[in-house]
Amino acid sequence: MIFNTRLLHGKAVREYPYHATIPPISQVTAFRFHSAEEQEKVFMHKASGYAYSRVGNPTVAAFEQRMNELEGGNAAIACSSGMSAVALAMLNMLASGDEVIAGSGLYGGTIDLFRDLRKFGIKVKFVKHMTISEIEPLISDRTRLLYAEVIGNPGLDVLDIRAVSDLAHSRGIPLMVDATTATPYLVRPLDWGADIVVHSGSKYINGGGNSISGVIVDGAVFPWDFGKYPALSDFSRYGPLAYTIRLRTDIWENMGCCLSPFHAFMNICGLETLGLRMERICSNARKLAEALSEIPGIQVNYPLLQDNPYRELAIKQFEGKGGGILTFRVGSKEKAFQVMNHLKYVTIASNLGDVRTLAIHPASTLYINSDEESREAAGVYEDTIRISTGIEDPEDLIEDLTEAIEAV
Ligand SMILES: *Cc1c(COP(=O)(O)O)cnc(C)c1O
Repeated sequence: MIFNTRLLHGKAVREYPYHATIPPISQVTAFRFHSAEEQEKVFMHKASGYAYSRVGNPTVAAFEQRMNELEGGNAAIACSSGMSAVALAMLNMLASGDEVIAGSGLYGGTIDLFRDLRKFGIKVKFVKHMTISEIEPLISDRTRLLYAEVIGNPGLDVLDIRAVSDLAHSRGIPLMVDATTATPYLVRPLDWGADIVVHSGSKYINGGGNSISGVIVDGAVFPWDFGKYPALSDFSRYGPLAYTIRLRTDIWENMGCCLSPFHAFMNICGLETLGLRMERICSNARKLAEALSEIPGIQVNYPLLQDNPYRELAIKQFEGKGGGILTFRVGSKEKAFQVMNHLKYVTIASNLGDVRTLAIHPASTLYINSDEESREAAGVYEDTIRISTGIEDPEDLIEDLTEAIEAV
């Protein structure tokens, strides 16, 4: 099965109650048992079944199974938001004293979270670019994780997943990637060597801008050294499954960041059109990036542009696709605001991956908590506008942005 067929007819598409074509919403808190014995078995994980929706729900499970199949993982665990997915994915395997190496061109919320983790004794060291030459000198005997975004948001650096995962594995460390901006339509990071994939499902996965969610997918092949990863040591009997099992039965369950069945349902509906949407979104982004780069004085960042340093890698790793985000610089913050205020169809909103094209000024929004140095390391300048293309007709988008820029 190829991508679009798999979205509708893959293995994760099961038989649903009443022969429904998509999973009905199981909008319930608790599930009834016929006997105390049966309830005990489910609580002891000796029988399958649902007990309480924070710990398991059929609609959420249906969404997890679809995401797991798309990413080619061993297990997927859905969370209440992308941020909770990133936080739980890390807390599940890290302990006080551990160090993480991450790229600086990350989502602003993730950078803020890394600051919070310091208070728990987890230190994140940043490299400007997630390349071997920058990462290698920072690896110490305390390094426990490499963390990167497949396409940095909003820096738009493209991660060489194979090269960075080879480096990580040669030092006995896993690679965790945030694949929100890439989606499985561009690449399946586990196939290229990543160990754990996290997503904000609020973006392209959902696609309609109607639900916040996150998901963690574990490839379950990393050979955990339980001496080095004491956070997982109680689960050592599960070997490479230790990460998934601790997450499912311990950290995720106890932290309580579960996805609501309604949002899981909205994501299932969204996922079925992921391929069609991404095809149009990526093509719109490319056309818009090319058109804007023709305008004198406008500096455009998009992975597939001729002068972009990640062009070759994007072509190889994403089979010629460049994603749905571009950024451009217009000269000053005032001009950036004026351009945005001039837009007719492009909506000013702090989201991405919507069917609508969205614009944001990252420096005054997503990066207000960062100093100038970390902002610029993330590719965010005073005059940067980020565009997340939607599925409108490209001619209208090009006209809207060109007119706004020319008017200013
Ligand atoms: C939006 C986003 C997140 C956070 O996701 P929420 O669902 O908003 O919590 C994390 N990483 C990336 C790359 C994002 O774009």
